Amino acid sequence: MKQRIGIGFDAHRFTEGRKLILGGVHIPFPKGLAGHSDADVILHAVCDAMLGALALGDLGKHFPNTDPSYKDISSGILLEKTYDLVRQEGYELVNLDVTVLMEEPGIAPFIDQMCRNIADILWCKIPLISVKATTTEKLGFTGRGEGAGAMAVVLLGSKRG
Ligand SMILES: [Zn+2]
Repeated sequence: MKQRIGIGFDAHRFTEGRKLILGGVHIPFPKGLAGHSDADVILHAVCDAMLGALALGDLGKHFPNTDPSYKDISSGILLEKTYDLVRQEGYELVNLDVTVLMEEPGIAPFIDQMCRNIADILWCKIPLISVKATTTEKLGFTGRGEGAGAMAVVLLGSKRG
């Protein structure tokens, strides 16, 4: 089986008056992340890792933030469209691993639901999906609570010769 690996990173700034959506889960918190879409850093990092694995560019290239049709869009739809591109190339997910960088809120109670959401979108088994979180010990923009970041690694495989 041919295999391709990709890395993705994303970050968004916290702002008042937005829902906090991570891994497709609405997390109760006084602030949300600013962005053209719902600013789901987890799903954006995963999309970028998938696109990177196949050298297809990045999220901004495929879904420009100047396009009004993507305004406030659920990032689950972006991931679905990204995975369509992956399958068009003859690949499917082997596994993916995400680390969220955020001081607060803690997301441990929501991680199972995030993994279920991602597995649903990708039509795969839940154990192929890993979501973890860490603080940065109050260091940097995440440590000061200015925003959240996420890193993702994706492995794709193809049975096509
Ligand atoms: Zn993003």
